[in-house]
Amino acid sequence: MQLDNNTIRQTHYNILNVKEDASQDEIRTHYKSALLTSHPDKLLQHTTNSNYNDPQSKFLEIQTAWEILGDVKSRALYDMELRVSRQEDIVADEIELDDLAVEVSSDSDVVELFYQCRCGDYFSIDSSELEEMGFQLLTEGNKLSLRARDSADVASIVLPCGSCSLKIRLLIKQDTS
Ligand SMILES: [Zn+2]
Repeated sequence: MQLDNNTIRQTHYNILNVKEDASQDEIRTHYKSALLTSHPDKLLQHTTNSNYNDPQSKFLEIQTAWEILGDVKSRALYDMELRVSRQEDIVADEIELDDLAVEVSSDSDVVELFYQCRCGDYFSIDSSELEEMGFQLLTEGNKLSLRARDSADVASIVLPCGSCSLKIRLLIKQDTS
């Protein structure tokens, strides 16, 4: 696991000082200007102004960033890796079924489950979404339970917040029966 590194490590976009939705042309422009300001020959002449302890490695970082972002295919792959690493990073908390608030819709059998996010909005999932994931939501009075239909090895579900980028992990206790 290198999730901790991912949160600290600069992205290739940071290194080129370019937005993540930048066009290929913009990336090329930023790469060229990053090269101009960080070329080892240049930096050695201005060591007092340099922000970088190691001009050679900064230069290599820029080259690597360009090799990945300058190519549409490798950029798309890299974007996907970034998204995956971020999704795992922003799971805010772990909760259990008992922690969720329940709302039963009056005009359908859909049961909605809520948990308040720190932003004020809610993490939510409803029973039909759970069905699609292979979980059956059972209600007995006020008591909720989830039964996994077939994928018994799935032990948690990640719920997104309605407003912010936080997510929460709902842990599912399997019935031992
Ligand atoms: Zn939120």
